[in-house]
Amino acid sequence: MPLRWATRENMNQASERDPSLLLGAVDVPPVLEQNAAGRSPFLLTCDHYGRLVPQALGDLGLPPSEMERHIAWDVGIAGVAEQLSGALDAHLVAQRYSRLVIDCNRPPHAPSSIPLISEATTIPGNDGLTREAADARRRLIFEPYHRRIAEIIDARLGAGVPTLLVSLHSFTPVYAGIARPWHIGTLYQRDTRLPLLLLRLLRGESDLMVGDNEPYAVSDATDFTIPVHGEARGLPNTGIEIRQDLIADDVGQAQWAERLARIFGEIETAMRAQQLLT
Ligand SMILES: [Zn+2]
Repeated sequence: MPLRWATRENMNQASERDPSLLLGAVDVPPVLEQNAAGRSPFLLTCDHYGRLVPQALGDLGLPPSEMERHIAWDVGIAGVAEQLSGALDAHLVAQRYSRLVIDCNRPPHAPSSIPLISEATTIPGNDGLTREAADARRRLIFEPYHRRIAEIIDARLGAGVPTLLVSLHSFTPVYAGIARPWHIGTLYQRDTRLPLLLLRLLRGESDLMVGDNEPYAVSDATDFTIPVHGEARGLPNTGIEIRQDLIADDVGQAQWAERLARIFGEIETAMRAQQLLT
């Protein structure tokens, strides 16, 4: 333990003296894009794609084993998102830094935006943050990601490009000791255009147990991407949560990307037939 705390003492010094140093020359930009010229109506987002930590924050006071778990990122979703983007020719916007640095699917004022505890793990590097240090995480990671999504939507709407927002996530098979039976869930709040189609098609897959707003429902208090970029912009939207043990390896990720690409293709056809994609 003394070693861990020593790490915590050392790691934030530079960036706490000057929070603008949070992302240095060795740190990659937070936003990753793939297929920016993709022609699909689906716009894919991936809030919990990565588990990087800016070098100035060291290891957040956590052992590597914690940074591999679901508390740090959405295990497996990066591979699914990239392959789905490729299969659909869809624009993917993803965020590379760990949700433990700042959670890009939480309103910035929510206590869980920069979590002090995730599941049962305390995050030493998030303890006693100054307002300036927290603002730097928002300004340098959260805001560029969401600004980019907003710009992309502006450009698509301006050009009259149909846009269906899909927010991709994965969930841990066991949370706080409770096993979750669903293979996949659709998540939504105010807009049911896309989720109901998706639910019907997923339920047509005989091997799947499908969650309807399970294992979570979308809410303004606990989500950001769907309320802000989907609902407030009037775009058909859905969240998708895939159980992490199903996409833990390359084979699972490829199978799920292929399955979702097929289903999204059917959704696109159905929505075009109903003139919902003009
Ligand atoms: Zn997630």
